Amino acid sequence: MGYKKPSFIENIAEKLGIIPNLHKEGYQEFDKDMRHFSDEEVAQMYENFPPPEKWDNWVEYDPKTWPKKDKKTYQIIPTTCFNCESACGLTAFIDKETNEVKKFEGNPYHPGSRGRNCAKGPATINQINDPDRILFPLKRKGKRGDGDWERVSWDDALDTIANRIRKAIQEDRHNEIAYHVGRPGNEKFMNWILQGWGIDGHNSHTNICSSGARFGYNLWYGYDRPSPDHAEAKFILLVSAHLESGHYFNPHAQRIIEGKMKGAKLATMDPRLSNTASMSDYWMPSYPGTEAAVLLAMALIILQENLYNREYLENWTNWKEYLQARHSDKPITFENYIAAMIEEYKEFTPEYAEKESGVKAEMIIEIAHKIGEAGERFASHNWRAAGASNLGGWAVARCLHFLTALTGAVGAKGGTSPNSWNKFKPTQPNPPKPQKKWNELHFPKEYPLAFFEMSQLLPHFLKEGRGKMDVYFSRVFNPVWTYPDGFTWMEMFSDETKFGLHAALTPTWNETAFYADFVLPMGLASERHDLNSYATHGGTWIAFRQPVLREAARRNGKPVKLTYEANPGEVWEEDEFFIELSWRIDPDGSMGIRKHFESPYRPGEKITIDEYYQYVFERVKGLPETAKKEGLTELQYMQKYGAFEIEKGESYKMNERLLSEEQLKGTKVNPVNDVITKDGNPIGVMVKGKPCIGFPTPSRKNEFYSQTMVDWKWPEYATPAYIKSHIHNDVLDKSKGEYVLVPTFRLPTLIHTRSGNAKWLVEISNRNPIWMHPQDAKKWGFQTGDLVKLNTDIGYFIDKVWVTQSMKPGVVACSHHIGRWRRPQDKTGNRWATNTVNIEGDGHGGWKMNTISGIKPYESEDKDSKRIFWKDGGVHQNITHAVHPDPISGMHCWHQRVRIEKPQKDEKYGDIFVDTNKSHEVFKEWLAMTRPAPGPNGERRPLWFNRAFTPDKSEGGCYYIPKDDK
Ligand code: SF4
Repeated sequence: MGYKKPSFIENIAEKLGIIPNLHKEGYQEFDKDMRHFSDEEVAQMYENFPPPEKWDNWVEYDPKTWPKKDKKTYQIIPTTCFNCESACGLTAFIDKETNEVKKFEGNPYHPGSRGRNCAKGPATINQINDPDRILFPLKRKGKRGDGDWERVSWDDALDTIANRIRKAIQEDRHNEIAYHVGRPGNEKFMNWILQGWGIDGHNSHTNICSSGARFGYNLWYGYDRPSPDHAEAKFILLVSAHLESGHYFNPHAQRIIEGKMKGAKLATMDPRLSNTASMSDYWMPSYPGTEAAVLLAMALIILQENLYNREYLENWTNWKEYLQARHSDKPITFENYIAAMIEEYKEFTPEYAEKESGVKAEMIIEIAHKIGEAGERFASHNWRAAGASNLGGWAVARCLHFLTALTGAVGAKGGTSPNSWNKFKPTQPNPPKPQKKWNELHFPKEYPLAFFEMSQLLPHFLKEGRGKMDVYFSRVFNPVWTYPDGFTWMEMFSDETKFGLHAALTPTWNETAFYADFVLPMGLASERHDLNSYATHGGTWIAFRQPVLREAARRNGKPVKLTYEANPGEVWEEDEFFIELSWRIDPDGSMGIRKHFESPYRPGEKITIDEYYQYVFERVKGLPETAKKEGLTELQYMQKYGAFEIEKGESYKMNERLLSEEQLKGTKVNPVNDVITKDGNPIGVMVKGKPCIGFPTPSRKNEFYSQTMVDWKWPEYATPAYIKSHIHNDVLDKSKGEYVLVPTFRLPTLIHTRSGNAKWLVEISNRNPIWMHPQDAKKWGFQTGDLVKLNTDIGYFIDKVWVTQSMKPGVVACSHHIGRWRRPQDKTGNRWATNTVNIEGDGHGGWKMNTISGIKPYESEDKDSKRIFWKDGGVHQNITHAVHPDPISGMHCWHQRVRIEKPQKDEKYGDIFVDTNKSHEVFKEWLAMTRPAPGPNGERRPLWFNRAFTPDKSEGGCYYIPKDDK
């Protein structure tokens, strides 16, 4: 963006001081890569942002009393946003008179977000001031789920839970304890806690989120996430609505736009004309589930037209292994590799891809050419979207990375790096060893390659009697609402033989907390500690989420001991809660647990939260020196700025780094594949005569050919493939009104169930109608606002139609994040967003939900609650979806086959029905598609695959299935 000449009116307004002088020289000179500016220079550009030396005493006029000029004095404390995973920087403005947080703005010192936020960042203030938030620990009275609660002390809650965990561990029932998290944070903190207890007790939401794409990427290069270098790219391909929502999207969005401003072209594959597609140079409205066919067609063009990067393919893909395994009759030459790939993908002509996907062949050809021309500067991303939607969705990410490998863009400037190259890993005090337990409720034998815990199947495993949860923590996690098949979760949560004690750690009420025994209030973004580091660009940073009122108290000479002393009510935080709980589980240290949570500075004493973070920050490269220059400790530096840039952004091609002489001692080189091993483990690879570190795969290269897939019984997918999905056009019976429902997209202002307590966000988005193309609407006789009944495999829901040309014909879509509810007996919560519903079960697995009332204005200490004008809280769709776990990656396949019909006269908007017997049948149908462990040598899972909370890998240990185990 260059300097823009001011208009006459602007000139006058600027001179009179009505608006800032936006046109003075240099104000708009943002055309250079922001990374090349120092922090101070960036801060100067955001010249309206207070400089840090004034953060303890910042004066500005109170906008609420305008036109009077009332001065307000603030203390500004940095923290990070928790309304999605990006962890953008925030600064809290605390009124020095009242000690209340008045607003949140961005933090220009945060290297990922660089002072910018999406709408959800500043809306943190709504969440803090939510009149319905939970302020004290609560314990259920009466039957679970009846809605009766009493206030208890933190001591009561901690002792009850600790006693139960201690008993389970002492009785060797480790696998009955689980911590189930939706949005995790806190780099490695829970590994420290749970592995300190010696349990395999972590469960995550990842199999309903991103594990499909992770699996596809991992097969190629041992890293499970991409880190596209958008700002330096020449061509960007998104298989998602990534510019407006999704993974690290605000930090990525700014860099996508920077790339575009420097001339990059953007292509988006999505059946919906999302905001992202509308900002793109190319929109490919593909039929859902056919994305891999389009990508393979592009790969074929790049191969046939010699647009590939020969040097990269020759040096950094395992082509010799491929030819040996698949074409042993031919000489092992590079030319034969290319010829074999062309032969393998010959059916993927642009015309075939068009037939499958509906994307025009000419567009496929043009984009393939652009990708080939971009070469190493080809950035791409698939995270959730197609990777999270289809049977075989993981193949989309795999085929996308195929293009990255063909162009040599893997880890290149302007290309796509592995996420781990741009992410910090903390060193923790008294680290525990990996647990010697394997929990089959999380990683069952049927899914040995599942990239994360099979969390969506937990209620079905419990229903089948595979085990129980004696102590279960839900944290930022609301499966009753967010997961498919929520009624089965409700059935299991209601049964005390399945869930012995359920503690919901949550700042606000949600549909799952209604079925808890303890509801324990945890702080919102600015009320807790946390450490963040994400791969937002080609650099590495850490950010410090901190409780801002506690930090203000410290700066003002009134330090508190525990975070809940500074927070509203008795709202606490996870870090201190789990340290305290660990000490109570093992009060005398005899169980070997307590020692992990002792102070590294005061032997035998309980570690404090400041000591934990001081220990971590002391070990961050470059931070001690930087802090020392300002006369601060490492912790004080992070408390002051909220973020630190470890590495500025030149971490490209790290696979080419050389092994040191020390590392090379005692190594052997395999003469066939050049892999360098030490004690039998691959640690590098010889490339052009040099000992390179390579990638963490068995071949240390990008694996076009995966022997792992062959060894684990999926030889048909040894190379990148197109898998026809569960909602492929051939599967749907159009004569019966069957369609594919795309339920995976997010409105940019909402985030799962976490935005229900943010009034500004709900005011903007509060409905989730069915998107339908005018052609389909005409066929059915629907107009916008008409009721439509969508029958899934296990039930139905009734929603309204929105007729829009933004939807691909033949496909319908419904956004998630809307359709929140509470029952009349439940505590009021999230009233900006929740319908009041009636739920009735027939006692035989049939469940009905209907809306008693929509959203209504109400009296509270927030005057805005009286001004609510919207009535429609949307419809809960996920609860009508059956579980569809991909038999390989374990990823839930979100897209639904639905039968469309017009509702009966007595059927109303928001009506829902589900038969949980049918949902259990569908679970079994998909289970039958698996090819269970063991793999080679009795392994439960390939040893080279990462696993969350990795257990002990010693031979014959828990990573291996005992021979007598059936
Ligand atoms: S992208 Fe938005 S919601 Fe996500 S962390 Fe940044 S400001 Fe918060």
